[in-house]
Amino acid sequence: MATRDLRSDDPSTDPDADYDYTSDSVERPGLVDDLRERVDGDVRFDSYTRQLYATDASIYEALPVGVVFPTSTDDVAAVVSYCADRGIPVLPRGGGTSLAGQAVNEAVVLDFKHAMNGFVGFDPEAETARAQPGITLAALNDELAAHGLKYAPDPAWGDKSVLGGAIGNNSTGAHSLQYEKADGYLESAEVVLADGTVTTLGWVDTDDLDALADPDGDLEARIYADLRRLLDEEADRIRERFPDLKRNVSGYNYDRLLADAEAHGAVNAARLLAGSEGTLGIITEAEVSLEPVPAETAVAMLTYDDVRDAMQDVAPVLDHDPSAVEVMDDVFLDLARDTDEFADVVGLLPDGTDSTLLVEFYADSPAEARRRVADLLADRLPSATPAADPPGGTTTDAPVHAVDALEAYDDDRQAHFWKMRKAGLPILLSRTSDEKHYPYIEDTAIPADHLPAFVADFQAILDDLDTVASYYAHAGPGVLHVRPLVTLADEAGVAKMAEIADRVTDLVVEYGGAVSGEHGDGRARSQWNRKFYGEDLWASFRRTKAAFDPDWILNPGPVCGDAAGEIDMTDHLRVAPDDEFDAGFDPALNWDTENGFRGMTELCHGCAGCTGHQDTTGGVMCPTYRAANEETLSTRGRANMLRSAMNGHLPADPLDDEFLTEVLDLCVGCKGCKLDCPSGVDMAKLKTEVKHASHQADGVGVLDRLFGHTEALFHLGSALAPVSNWATALPGAGALAEKTLGIAAERDLPTFRRESLRAWFDARGGSRVPEAAAEHTVLLAPDPYTNYSTVAVGKAAVRVLEAAGVHVALPDGVGTSGRPAYSRGLIDRTRRIARENVAALAPKVADGWDVVYVEPSDAVMVQDDYHDLLSSAPAASVAANTYGVCEYLDRHGLDAAAGFDADGESLAYHGHCHQKAQQRDHHAVGVLRRAGYEVDPLDSTCCGMAGSFGYEAEHYSMSQAIADILADQVADSDADTVTAPGSSCRSQLSERDDVDTDGAPPHPVQKLADAL
Ligand SMILES: Cc1cc2nc3c(=O)[nH]c(=O)nc-3n(C[C@H](O)[C@H](O)[C@H](O)COP(=O)(O)OP(=O)(O)OC[C@H]3O[C@@H](n4cnc5c(N)ncnc54)[C@H](O)[C@@H]3O)c2cc1C
Ligand code: SF4
Ligand code: SF4
Repeated sequence: MATRDLRSDDPSTDPDADYDYTSDSVERPGLVDDLRERVDGDVRFDSYTRQLYATDASIYEALPVGVVFPTSTDDVAAVVSYCADRGIPVLPRGGGTSLAGQAVNEAVVLDFKHAMNGFVGFDPEAETARAQPGITLAALNDELAAHGLKYAPDPAWGDKSVLGGAIGNNSTGAHSLQYEKADGYLESAEVVLADGTVTTLGWVDTDDLDALADPDGDLEARIYADLRRLLDEEADRIRERFPDLKRNVSGYNYDRLLADAEAHGAVNAARLLAGSEGTLGIITEAEVSLEPVPAETAVAMLTYDDVRDAMQDVAPVLDHDPSAVEVMDDVFLDLARDTDEFADVVGLLPDGTDSTLLVEFYADSPAEARRRVADLLADRLPSATPAADPPGGTTTDAPVHAVDALEAYDDDRQAHFWKMRKAGLPILLSRTSDEKHYPYIEDTAIPADHLPAFVADFQAILDDLDTVASYYAHAGPGVLHVRPLVTLADEAGVAKMAEIADRVTDLVVEYGGAVSGEHGDGRARSQWNRKFYGEDLWASFRRTKAAFDPDWILNPGPVCGDAAGEIDMTDHLRVAPDDEFDAGFDPALNWDTENGFRGMTELCHGCAGCTGHQDTTGGVMCPTYRAANEETLSTRGRANMLRSAMNGHLPADPLDDEFLTEVLDLCVGCKGCKLDCPSGVDMAKLKTEVKHASHQADGVGVLDRLFGHTEALFHLGSALAPVSNWATALPGAGALAEKTLGIAAERDLPTFRRESLRAWFDARGGSRVPEAAAEHTVLLAPDPYTNYSTVAVGKAAVRVLEAAGVHVALPDGVGTSGRPAYSRGLIDRTRRIARENVAALAPKVADGWDVVYVEPSDAVMVQDDYHDLLSSAPAASVAANTYGVCEYLDRHGLDAAAGFDADGESLAYHGHCHQKAQQRDHHAVGVLRRAGYEVDPLDSTCCGMAGSFGYEAEHYSMSQAIADILADQVADSDADTVTAPGSSCRSQLSERDDVDTDGAPPHPVQKLADAL
């Protein structure tokens, strides 16, 4: 299948290359070499990189010419001037979280997030900040927090999207009731213009424009001439055609220009770049003004029987001057109810709740925050308990619709409510069917008074076209996120999408709204600007574009079409009707609940949720991206590559060694994405499936065979101990292991115990708690690590369980759960192990026994992964009765009986990523706290060892880079001792010089045993 060198960046090796943008004087492959000569940053034109940057969070795909990772303004200027001379399009890109396709194009992409992401400085007098365009908004605000200030535009994905992208899209977020869009905060910008010249654009008095403007002058003079034209010739039309709405990001933001001229007698050309989607100039540094961080916030979640009631309530709620009003409807709430993450919040809502309004207030003090919520409830929900303070606040005479309300004052509860709302788009996209809630008409803005009527008419269009949608959004400013369900896998679905967009645009015009109130024009909506603004303003947009970019090389297409005026929302679709899917193998795992294997490969919609960092995003996903800041090492990168290889967009064989190395090799299989990806993309499972297929095709390699048979290795190591331990500790043994087996020389190999856990247990005569006297009977499954190496952990588990009155037995015939083999893609072997284990355990489970593992990854193997291997009733029953040891104590309320009495020692707790993916890692924290420990649960990602991954020489540096993140968190914690249930996490931590562990860190059950 793979016929060309995908790693090559020489376009001449690419028979499909349609970007022969070389002039007469430059021979191919001069394009790449020339750029490399001109810039310090990386230049990557290989097929993998190009495919990685072919998509964003939209429904579109456009293969870029190549990608440059600039490190300075000089780099950017060099690329633009080189490309301008040859007519090669250029596309600036930030986090690639755009939803309308404005961050993809057949162009040379400049990725600013990678290396031009610095904070430049804070001016205390002006209260402004300067930063490079690639800084994430979260990192920018981290820098400003000490000054009590923030950059106010807050798009939901601000921990993944960047300043340049926020300006490019003229972003704002849930708090636009209080704040401006990005254009309102842009004071000046260093800009690389379309010919490669570098200039600073900022405020200019309108009286001074004439002196600067020259329609026949250089590029900058022509830009000022265009501003003059707009003020002199277009002002009336702008007033007439631009909607009177705070939320409108369609077209170029002429209304801002006019408003500034009227308010300040000055205009700011930089502000015209806000919302221009990279089509007018490229920002290399921005100066932005700031807002104070509110002292307090409080949230009320009003509940309704019907979404129309919620819409009716928006206008009266606005009279209370909230900082945000967000709506979530029944479709949204039903989907949230099915997620592990948000089921608890939805569960708090009264039965029958159809929709909610999340209303947030800013306040100067906690008392004021409570009073403002109380005022709202007194007015909008008179049945609520009256406020402690006399209400005396705003009352409206609008009819009451709300049924009930939840309140949130502490930070955690507020954050949880907000997190659910912000996960809205991705939650919707977790639908695994072919029909999906795609973004194409998803952010219309309508004046609040017209919302109910607009929603009714919108619904009529959907009924007419036989589809459904969910309504959720920033209801306060009238922005509705509506994503009618369509398929793009057939022509009829594509046509339906276009018809919905066309008819909704008419509706928007009728109600004085905006086609895009938030996400921009891109490829999805630019064509509608023509009818939305009318032919004259469309022509004016094109004159502005031509003034800034006469050769139409900057991101041609979005806002006002390409040089020929073309832009069609049905072009360049990522999922296209003629796509043919061919995985190249028959899947061996059960994918029934994921719309089949193909459904899982197509589940990632590109939202970039997996590209956040530990300190700003937290959670587990995705450790390799966090360690390396590389798109290719994110879940999105991997998912994009897999899908593209299987639907033919990337001419690669997914079973080819090269592909596996490029795409899947560094995935640590932590399952972080399974939980943290709002759509539940399960890359660990995909990797296992693909690795298995590659074994089937090409045989199993030495390392896979070795690590896939951990049980036998550990058995041998224990039988030969202490000789086996001396042998591995001999000088040169590490180097030999690396040379012969590929095991990193730097690693300490496990120490084997001569007396296994099983032998110890038998020798002591089994359980000290007689079965007859016990209310709970447990089969403690001895995984190889616990049985042969970390035997002390197993002994501690026995002591603790027995102290809690549990009768313990070690099950015959059950050793490894199969986890090591599974993570190496040895599915047949794992299935055999799983079958044997289930056969041994199921009868005991039927008799009332529970199964307990001390090793989290083994517990989760049985609880979760066995389903993918066996799908049988006995397997399901064993899974339902299997626990991690702390989970078992917590779920059955047994820790009180154990009588722990710890001395208040403080513990930093690093949970295991597999248990986190199952949301089962909190049990240990609860039990340890009740036992008398102070616990600091680290919001950590994977430790980087990930079973055998970190032992491999070729993975050692990635493993350490991931471990650096954890080590920093341990260092930042005030706790005395770090504890971790995972044996590989404990090995990783014990090998770090920068983590003070005094030997291997304890398993939580060892700390519990200490507290007996
Ligand atoms: C789940 C989800 C929620 C979202 N919620 C919101 C929301 O609440 N509010 C909102 O406004 N948007 C939202 N968005 C859309 C998007 O995240 C924002 O618009 C964001 O600000 C884009 O930033 P980015 O870094 O990803 O930019 P990109 O997508 O990389 O780029 C955006 C545009 O800016 C241009 N650009 C990038 N860098 C530069 C530069 N240096 N100079 C000039 N132009 C440049 C690009 O060419 C592109 O046209 C959401 C998206 C997702 C997936
Ligand atoms: S893997 Fe998940 S979080 Fe990452 S881009 Fe895809 S859908 Fe979003
Ligand atoms: S399993 Fe872990 S490393 Fe692999 S893609 Fe998912 S989050 Fe990233």
